Amino acid sequence: MSTMAAVVLPGDSTVRPVVKDVPEPGPGQVLLAMKASSICGSDIRAIYREHLGHGPEAYQGVVAGHEPCGQVVAVGPDCRRLSEGDRVVVYHISGCGVCEQCRSGYLIGCTDPFRAAYGWQRDGGHADYLLAEEVTCLPMPDSMSYVDGALVSCGFGTAYEALLRLQVSGLDSLLVTGLGPVGLAAAMLGRAMGAGPIVGTDVSAERLALATTLGLVDVAVAGDEESAERLAELTGGRGFSTSVDCSGSSAARRSALANTATWGRCAFVGEGGTVDFDVSQMMIHKQIALHGSWVTSVGHMEDLIRHLDRWQLHPSDIVTDTFGLEEADRAYELADRGNSGKVVITFP
Ligand SMILES: [Zn+2]
Ligand SMILES: [Zn+2]
Repeated sequence: MSTMAAVVLPGDSTVRPVVKDVPEPGPGQVLLAMKASSICGSDIRAIYREHLGHGPEAYQGVVAGHEPCGQVVAVGPDCRRLSEGDRVVVYHISGCGVCEQCRSGYLIGCTDPFRAAYGWQRDGGHADYLLAEEVTCLPMPDSMSYVDGALVSCGFGTAYEALLRLQVSGLDSLLVTGLGPVGLAAAMLGRAMGAGPIVGTDVSAERLALATTLGLVDVAVAGDEESAERLAELTGGRGFSTSVDCSGSSAARRSALANTATWGRCAFVGEGGTVDFDVSQMMIHKQIALHGSWVTSVGHMEDLIRHLDRWQLHPSDIVTDTFGLEEADRAYELADRGNSGKVVITFP
């Protein structure tokens, strides 16, 4: 039995390297050589700083990393689609497969005891190899890099789902509050889906600069006291027909809603915390459809992969820093500061 390097997160803002046996794929499973494994805001919020999660976000001390992308190196019995050498994105939750949510492709919503998210309840992508269920692996086109794939496995999928929920099209303007990796993804995909202008807000000057430099937003607005006026000016007081909060901050959620036009659509994607607002004034009297959107479905992730190929878009554009697995501590420290773009662990 050979061994592999891996990383677990003890929950006190440290990263612990461990050595594990390389797993062998059982029925319906494949073994992936990890190529890219990105760090998500959820990893920081609910695991790295402190183990805060409950239920689907309860971290079980497994190998971390829920945004894995790799290449199939071994195939277990009864696999139906994949073979050695295939490059795959991993949808980051394995479900029971037979409940209503699983059957509709939203494995994220499965509540069966069999449900396990990679990097939360079963070993994830911060290791040389990952044991994955074949049904959670989605083949990638040649145009996509492994880093592109890792970003699709959670963040871009999440942003895409929110835009689908809002039915964003060329008829829409789009406000994105929170320009972390998911917000940058929402801006990039919103543009490809035809929306414009696209305006983004953030409290971090670095993130505003990154969104502007990458050309993902038409206007970047600092999320401060004056932002309300500036946002109102940009739409002639009308508001944006669609908005998505990717920050999870209550001020930004209120800003997204307040700057949504009458009859507009707003989605909350950024996790954690609370929000409080005048429901009649900000929502009911403006006829606003407010959506909560959590991750995406396997089917929509597969669609997104096809679209990215068609649009020739590269999620990896929003990556600012890459580290080897042995530098995972530095990768997490940087991601925790909240002013970088996407941080990714890559493998040879
Ligand atoms: Zn994630
Ligand atoms: Zn299920």
